[in-house]
Amino acid sequence: MFEYDAEATNAILDYCRDRLAMDPVPLDFGGLAPLPMDELATMITAEGRAPLEVLDFFERALAPAVVSSDVPTYLAFIPNAPTKNSLLFDMVVACSGLNGTSWLESAGVVVAENQALEYLAGRAGMPEGSGGAFVSGGSMGNLAGLTVGRDVGRTLHPELDPRAVRYAISADAHSSVGKALHVIGVDALLVKTDDHRFTREALIEALAADPHPETVIGVVATSGTTNAGIVDDLEGLGTYAREHNLWFHVDGAYGGAAMMSATDGHLFAGLRHADSFVVDPHKWLFAPLDCAALIYRNPTVARKVLAQQASYLDILHNTDDEHYEWNPSDFAIHLSRRARGLPFWYSLVTYGTAAFESAIQASIDLARRTESIIGEYDHVEMVRPSSLSVVMFRRPGWSDERYNEWSLQLLRDQIAFVTPTKWEGETIARFAFLHPDTDEALVRRILETMRD
Ligand SMILES: *Cc1c(COP(=O)(O)O)cnc(C)c1O
Repeated sequence: MFEYDAEATNAILDYCRDRLAMDPVPLDFGGLAPLPMDELATMITAEGRAPLEVLDFFERALAPAVVSSDVPTYLAFIPNAPTKNSLLFDMVVACSGLNGTSWLESAGVVVAENQALEYLAGRAGMPEGSGGAFVSGGSMGNLAGLTVGRDVGRTLHPELDPRAVRYAISADAHSSVGKALHVIGVDALLVKTDDHRFTREALIEALAADPHPETVIGVVATSGTTNAGIVDDLEGLGTYAREHNLWFHVDGAYGGAAMMSATDGHLFAGLRHADSFVVDPHKWLFAPLDCAALIYRNPTVARKVLAQQASYLDILHNTDDEHYEWNPSDFAIHLSRRARGLPFWYSLVTYGTAAFESAIQASIDLARRTESIIGEYDHVEMVRPSSLSVVMFRRPGWSDERYNEWSLQLLRDQIAFVTPTKWEGETIARFAFLHPDTDEALVRRILETMRD
């Protein structure tokens, strides 16, 4: 198992080379494709199988049953459009057996990842010294950030029952925030909002109406919401949190990247108040799955809460020089960790930041243009103005089933992957733009399929 196999290596590298050269890669069929269950059932044997035969099986029978998220025609959920260089470097990470757990094991990886984190913290306006780690996704980032905030709140308020502390969140917060609160045993003060945007005024009103406002130790803002792309009032909520010593967590898993946008960057000015901030390079920063940046304003506090103690790990914490000890495992829930920030770092360094700015801007501009295109047609209409790169629109007269059929037919016809969503109880259509090569022609082609 540890011998070099030139034939298998060439076959795998050729597969990767062919895939990288495709422009675009096939959208493919996901769950709509037939699955080769009988053939699959014969795969694991005591003797093993020829690598080329199994690669062929993957290519022929399994790959078509996976929708590629890195295509300009994937407009559902939040897509994932890794750059060519990020995909290439992901192979370097894989083939180098890199471990990203601790400074002692992998200082060379950690300094490069930290450079990427520092760059993002700087764009967010967070102070020098901010830092954290790359984790597997926004969900894990939210869980870690909210855990640290909970413990800080408990420490600041010894007079409170530790089980009573709560976060103020809005109903439009991502489902992973609710899940994280469930995991850490913290309740939410659910704040009602006007038009789904969490503002300072809405927070003040909710606190005033609540019998126990003193138990609220933190505020969770979203920038922007996954369904609609709405950026909460970061400046208002952030200053309120500062004034009242509340933990301010900002979930920018999807939209945080738009802090780099020329037209929409101003919406993110309040990020500078964040105590913890999450943005997913595997969404709008064009890195492969799975990669989220988790950044703390005060990493020392996070380390106090989350560093794992075990006698066999003592050596990782033995250096006296704070500056040279940075264990990514101290800042989140994981211990062992893939060096998942490295493909993003390589992509950022090789293409340069201006390329990222224009790729992000391309989707925002297309969302605005799509709004005008929808205005030209009689059979579709906007549900609300586009926000960031999300466009919500409806086809009046269509039932829930009709939206579902239409979505599956688009995938069957390999035109695009677009899924319906719900907005205020109504089933509607939604585009989430992310790949910079998605264009107006595709938008028009999809809208044409909605005539009957
Ligand atoms: C996607 C998303 C998440 C979850 O991130 P994962 O990387 O899928 O774990 C959390 N919050 C928001 C706002 C998101 O868009």
